[in-house]
Amino acid sequence: WEPWNDPSERPHVQIANLTKRFGDFVAVDDISLDIYRKEFFSLLGPSGCGKTTLLRMLAGFELPSSGQILLEGEDMSGVPPYERPVNMMFQSYALFPHMNVEKNIAFGLKQDGVPKPEIERRVAEVIEMVQLNAFAKRKPHQLSGGQRQRVALARSLVKKPKMLLLDEPLGALDKNLRTQTQFELMNIQEETGITFVIVTHDQEEAMTVSSRIAVMDHGKIVQVSTPAELYEYPNSRYVADFIGEVNILEGRVDSREGDHLMIQSSEAGCAIQTGPSADEPVGRQVWIAVRPEKLSISLEAPASTPSSTWVNCLAGEVWDIGYLGNLSIYHVKLDNGKMVTATQANMARLIERPITWEDRVYLTWAPDAAVVLLN
Ligand code: ATP
Repeated sequence: WEPWNDPSERPHVQIANLTKRFGDFVAVDDISLDIYRKEFFSLLGPSGCGKTTLLRMLAGFELPSSGQILLEGEDMSGVPPYERPVNMMFQSYALFPHMNVEKNIAFGLKQDGVPKPEIERRVAEVIEMVQLNAFAKRKPHQLSGGQRQRVALARSLVKKPKMLLLDEPLGALDKNLRTQTQFELMNIQEETGITFVIVTHDQEEAMTVSSRIAVMDHGKIVQVSTPAELYEYPNSRYVADFIGEVNILEGRVDSREGDHLMIQSSEAGCAIQTGPSADEPVGRQVWIAVRPEKLSISLEAPASTPSSTWVNCLAGEVWDIGYLGNLSIYHVKLDNGKMVTATQANMARLIERPITWEDRVYLTWAPDAAVVLLN
């Protein structure tokens, strides 16, 4: 189900030309974006790129300098946070220290005057959902970081918002717990059908949980796509580099042959043939992005000689090797000094690896395994 590809779907959130200035500083710069019902949507980018500011404007804690936010078709200008159909879960969790888990979760419903039996039923339901049954009577200081995070989540969910905004929800958790909780969050999102919008600077996290990701840079959105599309078809060096590992080779268009381009690249030290590509003028500067796992590494030179006729083949020396169990990472220093990374899955339980330090190796790739980038 891809609501963003379905013309009959109305976006849950429509953001139009949204800008936020703090004095002269532009924190969010003319952003337009649609988020659909039941999406698990991530705002991803380095520290300071404006993710939190954008989230806070959705919640109503920050007022836009210009532009518009529509939630379910309704203009949110002038609508205070508590009247918006959204709930925000803070990085600090903001739990009441003197209240136990149940009371922390029930607090918002009590404030809203929800009848007691309904409060009890709804609190029990979310406690079950976030697996805190055994901890219902404990106070926050008697809980681990992960458990506190669940209380904060339960407290947001119990209000049944149509949209939940989460600012670095897993930021305080260690790596193992983080990974486990990512999957739990995905399950909860699916079970409740609430639209989740999360802010994260962790690309792996965004890739794991999201239906779509908006990659941000200096207050702007540079690309919005599914995790797989961002990884396979980044639209710039910035995105290619931010999402996963990548090798980037600079070159110039040499010619067009059929539906692909031939690129001259002194950085690669060989000609590069692209996959099916848009036409670009001869001489235009381009960058070729190849993921490490798409390079195959060999001790054998290509059959064709001389090396000046090689296409999509880098030659160099193994500089170092990282063994990660499931895969090995090879850093290869090309003859012109450029470092390139290749990874290979370790399929067999090899004790002796055939490729070792200082070996001369050849890295090749299929034309359509690489992406042509124009900026
Ligand atoms: P992080 O991942 O570090 O939280 P972020 O991408 O969420 O970063 P924001 O918190 O949105 O970034 O901040 C964007 C920019 O706006 C930063 O440079 C920040 O210093 C600035 N900024 C945020 N709030 C204010 C404010 N109230 N007054 C002035 N500048 C602010």
